[in-house]
Amino acid sequence: MTEKADLTSVLDRAAAGGRITPEEALVLYRDAPLHALGAAADAVRRRKYAGIEHIATYIIERNINYTNVCVTACKFCAFYAAPKDTEKGWTRDLDDILRRCAETVELGGTQIMFQGGHHPDYGVEYYEKHFRAIKDAFPQLVIHSLGASEIEHMARISGVSVEEAITRIHEAGLDSFAGAGAELLPERPRKAIAPLKESGERWLEIMETAHRLGVESTSTMLMGTGETNAERIEHLRMIRDVQDRTGGFRAFIPYTYQPENNHLKGRTQATLFEYLRMIAIARLFLDNVQHIQGSWLTTGKEVGQLSLHYGADDLGSIMLEENVVSSAGAKHRSNRLEIIDLIRKAGRVPAQRATTYEHLVVHDDPANDPVDDRVVSHISSTAIEGGTAHPELKLLASN
Ligand code: SF4
Repeated sequence: MTEKADLTSVLDRAAAGGRITPEEALVLYRDAPLHALGAAADAVRRRKYAGIEHIATYIIERNINYTNVCVTACKFCAFYAAPKDTEKGWTRDLDDILRRCAETVELGGTQIMFQGGHHPDYGVEYYEKHFRAIKDAFPQLVIHSLGASEIEHMARISGVSVEEAITRIHEAGLDSFAGAGAELLPERPRKAIAPLKESGERWLEIMETAHRLGVESTSTMLMGTGETNAERIEHLRMIRDVQDRTGGFRAFIPYTYQPENNHLKGRTQATLFEYLRMIAIARLFLDNVQHIQGSWLTTGKEVGQLSLHYGADDLGSIMLEENVVSSAGAKHRSNRLEIIDLIRKAGRVPAQRATTYEHLVVHDDPANDPVDDRVVSHISSTAIEGGTAHPELKLLASN
């Protein structure tokens, strides 16, 4: 049998829902014709969503960056400030955080992504206090935040086990983990970009513990900092193995490295074709993960739109505020009407979803589309420069 026939038979098996090995995934990722790969992934998506395969989802959320002070100094990160860098470092007080939550609710947002640096003083108590305050004031907001790295850090600061840290912040209001900090899980590329972060094995161990304690999460991958194709597939294998045991990863979300303002200057970014191939191979290889999310924030709206034909079922969030990847150069912005339009032009019916993927509003009739476009993704210049005001959103909220 020829190599081409082998590749076609693996692709056919994957499209029919058969499990593929990491070795087979690597061959498909590297060598399968782009459109054939996308078509196979789309076939799997259609079967997984039989009956609602015409729908693609989005969510309205706000990233709330509570501090940029961080002891972990990841080389790809343009957001953090070392604790001694008092000029660049900032923290947000609780009133400011609650005001941002209020604006989120006013604009129809349903989810908060609490995201920040590993502050040397922030242990479990800090997160308990803030999550309780958010839930007391806005019980309708879902706190989908943090990840294994933050758990490892806060448990160390408070001198408790990760089990205790997870249990306590869950009781205080955290609903699910955002899968932050996965970056690249295999050892070599992880050490090259985040030498002070916990190992990939440890990241997975903590997520597995969270799943066992009843806290689900999403999973992510940072593409394009110099990792090999084999390391990308190894990252997927590590996630699939844990998922076989826990079923706790709701989604997989690859996104591309942004090269500005960090210590990795000169690294090659993942190409948009590599990104689309990753969306497709993730749909084929991660047969036990329900949702594959396309990211328009780092790749652009058109590529986000294309990802819906390469296996993605969801376009993630219209972020009312985002500062982390924006600091590293992600410049794409959008609003709800634009996301609805681009999903529709991809041939799907747009639906606003909840954190747990139930459809909240199905936009099946353009005549009933929202009439305003106040739901706009923003970068907060004040978050980068320090300070607490957010004039754009205050303006929006007061209109
Ligand atoms: S990615 Fe997160 S942990 Fe790493 S330096 Fe940036 S803020 Fe700190």
